[in-house]
Amino acid sequence: SMPELNDPALLRNQAYVDGAWCAAASAATFEVTNPADGAVIGSVPDMGAADAQRAIDAAAAAFPAWSARTGKERAAILRNWFNLLEAHAADLATLMTAEQGKPLAEARGEVAYGASFVEWFAEEAKRVSGDVPGSTWKDKRMVVLKQPIGVCASITPWNFPIAMITRKVAPAIAAGCTIVIKPAEQTPLSALALAELAHRAGLPPGVINIVTANAAGSVEVGRVLCDSPVVRHLSFTGSTPVGRILMQQCAPTVKKLALELGGHAPFIVFEDADLDAAVEGALASKYRNAGQTCVCTNRFYVHASLHDAFVQKLAAGAAQIRVGNGFESGIGIGPLIDSQAVDKVQDHVADALAKGATLEGGGRAHPMGGLFYEPTVLSNVSADMKIMREETFGPVAAVVKFTSEEEALAAANDTDFGLAAYFYSRDIGRVWRVAEKLEYGMVGINTGIISNEVAPFGGVKQSGLGREGSRYGMDEYLEIKYLCIGGI
Ligand code: ADP
Repeated sequence: SMPELNDPALLRNQAYVDGAWCAAASAATFEVTNPADGAVIGSVPDMGAADAQRAIDAAAAAFPAWSARTGKERAAILRNWFNLLEAHAADLATLMTAEQGKPLAEARGEVAYGASFVEWFAEEAKRVSGDVPGSTWKDKRMVVLKQPIGVCASITPWNFPIAMITRKVAPAIAAGCTIVIKPAEQTPLSALALAELAHRAGLPPGVINIVTANAAGSVEVGRVLCDSPVVRHLSFTGSTPVGRILMQQCAPTVKKLALELGGHAPFIVFEDADLDAAVEGALASKYRNAGQTCVCTNRFYVHASLHDAFVQKLAAGAAQIRVGNGFESGIGIGPLIDSQAVDKVQDHVADALAKGATLEGGGRAHPMGGLFYEPTVLSNVSADMKIMREETFGPVAAVVKFTSEEEALAAANDTDFGLAAYFYSRDIGRVWRVAEKLEYGMVGINTGIISNEVAPFGGVKQSGLGREGSRYGMDEYLEIKYLCIGGI
């Protein structure tokens, strides 16, 4: 169920703490399965509180020496790591498709995307600089320093098993921090392969530590990471409910938090849009990773004058997407991650149909069975349906008709989420007007694909705190210290 790796040493079955491969203190393990066929592809330590504490201790011990290195020295090691990620891209993609299910071409894309953060922050490591404000005192001078925040922790999801780690870890270690990572229980193998390559790149022991754990163990490890007064920063990508729990758990130690939580992206097609371009953007934004991304469109709002043509073209495009095992060529949609994911998609579709939505295509589990679901298009969707409120995280497009810009904007903003939004328009006045009024951290205009390492990724409202990637991404891991020097 998994093609052979060119470099079999990238498939690890132990966790990585203090520069060494290790088992859980309890010796417990859990299996990693391929969502396409349920086959077991590996097994990793099921760690708990004691292991998490040991990883924190290792990160704390590594911090003084790592933070004392120059940015240029850290940059060189990050650059080595980036080169190794590129050199082993094929194997990393194989591992990712095997444990996560996304089509191999998408996995290759994620490896490149994930590696780009390592390259970017290798460059940024040399560009941390402070400030010398003009003093208001004749006999004193003022200096602002930027220093690494200290030991960090990160908890990451399964939908981007490499990129969600590198987007956090690369800026952290570039800044001089050390870090403990708890990858998602569904996708620990990609995380461990990253660690193997970081080790080969010359990263000193304890700078990054990977603690693997199954669902229950993840809760236990998460609590230790949050409770620890040594851990100064927690970054998390995942669901909004878990983000709230972690925020609460971090309150007693007043930890700095970076949260990338759920989204519920609207996608508005105005009457002056290029219809074919909008359909193309809609297909890319909706069905990528089987709809399992936090920036995937959940709600389409289409002007009445284009509505029927849009729905027809979207349904025709969706019907063309081949569903199957991500290792087969030409596959556009792989399996969903697990049976709960399939249940949620089925529940959203059934709820919409029961409340009067029209099925334009798909609408059921794929005949091949397992965790495969057909690309689906629903029209006549209304605000009372679950799909309009909750993140579906599956290959279902819900389309609503609108008649005025005000109506579309009000509907688009009527949510507690605020991650990504998209709209199509050729009218320059409308482009500015709508872009400014959308209450979202990221807005795609005449495009359905917006992420790269140079752009600040993040949300407003209950979609999270902070920005990742970009020149802003490093600030997250730096503290500002003000020096006031008297007696001049
Ligand atoms: P998803 O729905 O994408 O699985 P989750 O928010 O449930 O999103 O999971 C994202 C990450 O959070 C995973 O690494 C998971 O193990 C971890 N996680 C889930 N619940 C908790 C918790 N209570 N405490 C700490 N980590 C958790």
